[in-house]
Amino acid sequence: MNHMTRPARIAEMLEPRSVAVIGASEDLTKFGGRLFKLLVQHGYGGQIFPINRKQDSILGLKCHASIGDTPVPPDMAVMAVPRDHVKAAVRECAEAGTKAAIIITAKFSDAGSEGAALEAEIVEEARKHGMRLIGPNCLGIISPANRLVLCASPALFVDQLLVGRIGMVSQSGALMATIFDRAQTRGVGFSHCFSIGNQADLNLCDFLDFLVEDRATDVICTYIEGVTDGPRFLDVATRARAAGKPILAVKAGRTADGAAAAFSHTASLAGGYEAFAAACAETGVVVMDDPDAMIMLAAALTKFETPSKAATSILTTSGGGGAITADRLSDFDLPLTTYAPETVKALEEYYFPANACANPIDMGAAIKGGSMLVGEGSAQALLSDPETGIVLAPITTAPDMRLLCECLASGMRGAEEAGHRKPFLVVVQPGRAGDKARAELLKNGLFYFDSIDEALRVIDGYRTLTERTPPTPDKGSSPGTVPAGLSGALDEATAKALLAEYGVPVNAGVVVADAVEAEEAAQGLAGPFVVKVVSPDIVHKSDAGGVVLNLPDGGAVGDAVAEMTDRLAARHPKARIEGFLVQEMVRGELEMFVGARRDPIFGPVVMVGAGGVLVELMQDVSVRLAPVSVAEAKEMILGLKVAPLLTGFRGSAPLDVDALADAVARIGWLACDLGADFAELDVNPVLVRKAGQGVTGVDARLLLEEEH
Ligand code: ADP
Ligand code: MG
Repeated sequence: MNHMTRPARIAEMLEPRSVAVIGASEDLTKFGGRLFKLLVQHGYGGQIFPINRKQDSILGLKCHASIGDTPVPPDMAVMAVPRDHVKAAVRECAEAGTKAAIIITAKFSDAGSEGAALEAEIVEEARKHGMRLIGPNCLGIISPANRLVLCASPALFVDQLLVGRIGMVSQSGALMATIFDRAQTRGVGFSHCFSIGNQADLNLCDFLDFLVEDRATDVICTYIEGVTDGPRFLDVATRARAAGKPILAVKAGRTADGAAAAFSHTASLAGGYEAFAAACAETGVVVMDDPDAMIMLAAALTKFETPSKAATSILTTSGGGGAITADRLSDFDLPLTTYAPETVKALEEYYFPANACANPIDMGAAIKGGSMLVGEGSAQALLSDPETGIVLAPITTAPDMRLLCECLASGMRGAEEAGHRKPFLVVVQPGRAGDKARAELLKNGLFYFDSIDEALRVIDGYRTLTERTPPTPDKGSSPGTVPAGLSGALDEATAKALLAEYGVPVNAGVVVADAVEAEEAAQGLAGPFVVKVVSPDIVHKSDAGGVVLNLPDGGAVGDAVAEMTDRLAARHPKARIEGFLVQEMVRGELEMFVGARRDPIFGPVVMVGAGGVLVELMQDVSVRLAPVSVAEAKEMILGLKVAPLLTGFRGSAPLDVDALADAVARIGWLACDLGADFAELDVNPVLVRKAGQGVTGVDARLLLEEEH
């Protein structure tokens, strides 16, 4: 299938001349009943063919016994029929010349191998005649922009669908409908929403591709359980960035439990969450952890100008509310604005000087102006402040909440007239007391947030958008070549030889068979020495008693090998001992971890983090798609929690971040060059010395797929 024709095909699907609803009925408790009713209710302009053998007409429209009986072949068919009837229905549509069908029915590849086989047969039937499929196991399409509803969700029983410039692709139908409902309630509309289910034919990237091209869409939201085609995802995301359309994504499977749940839901292999996040970082996709917050960020992006910074000014009705908001902002590590002098001056119209420069601004502390003027004036001042990126207004319960919201909206308009269209995020927490305030905001074209946390997630998303430096297209070039014939698990000495070939500094060492050879080997190395066991059965050498440090001379090295031989024979009698590694002991200020993995979807990723046992404890690791440039590697390092230890903390000397970054970049290249057999590489620890004194990898392990 020619990739370029895909967007056009989905565009056509959204403008069908006729739609058949297979399984249409009057029964609103059934999918077919609701689908049909909603399609009619929302004013679809083409012909509608209810397919129902038992009835003459539904809602005044003539029923047809089958697709073959319709006066013209329907462009589009939607089916919510029992699973055993799906294949026949698909064949019938395909043979009649239907261009696309949505299969709502579930229990295909989402329900084991037999279901997967049936799904494959259905795709085959459709493809024979060039018909495209959406689903199965999906909830269909909601297209407010085209007044086309091919979805049975009760959330759609509303008078009017809000049209917005947000496109959504969701791998969960129910989640899509829920998000849609909540968005609509809060004044946020969509261009098109697609629930894609098992993606038997048309997949996530096909729809993303369409939305990138679509003129009714400015921002793209997606809920993802698993990306199947990594390179295509990267390609679509790159084009979205070039087109200036942000993609916001929530991905399930961030945790092991989430990954398992996603798999049993739509048969998606979640792949590595870190690799997905790295792919998003590389292409500018904003990863969020909450679907509602994702939609609210999208709404803000379509309504306001994107600020150049995330510095936030808080405007509140309650000192307490303001203090809590400031705390939460600080939890998110988000910056509060220090206002420009002219802003403070404008605020002094209403507040004592000490309060006029405070952030949060507490409208309750105003000394003059009356609530109307204070609300309007404060909002306008903050929205016009050159130091402010975003204004956050948590509104607490008060007698005149509605009036206040009216004033805030008029302050926003005032700022707008002066050319300031900064994000204005108003929070009205759930509760009946806020009903009128919410309605007032909607009346003024403003949407509202249900919680401060949700608004903070949106500000956090803005920060990602504004602070992220675009990836460097120039990643340098590979500093080495991989010898042929590597396979399986490589021991420390072999892995280090390869690292050295790539210019990663490692310590010198010699593999020996016994104590006598060990003592001899020490003569050719600089002391003090370290002895390590070489065994394919011992992965964590020090845990097994297979590492002895700080041996002063050859005699001590020989003794250490002899003792280690006895110790391991007693503790690990089954372990195959291939020899011992005598190596130079290296000094370092800090242990870091540098590694690489091959992700099944996105290919090699490179990572750096706190080393030693801290790897697991701190989960302080930065992951990027490999290769990375040295500058990017440095950015990865400086973003770590341990970064202060590297850059100098409480008077400690700064460490050699440049040398560490150089090693990370080289290891990224090595991971790429190792090709399809590469599985994982750990260099742990890399010892980092003071600035200018370099780094040394003192342990390494490389795993390749066994040769088949
Ligand atoms: P493993 O990770 O298999 O237990 P390592 O080779 O990483 O074994 O050794 C364990 C620890 O010993 C390292 O984390 C490091 O602190 C220290 N170490 C190992 N080799 C050296 C060396 N050559 N110089 C200095 N310290 C070392
Ligand atoms: Mg180690």
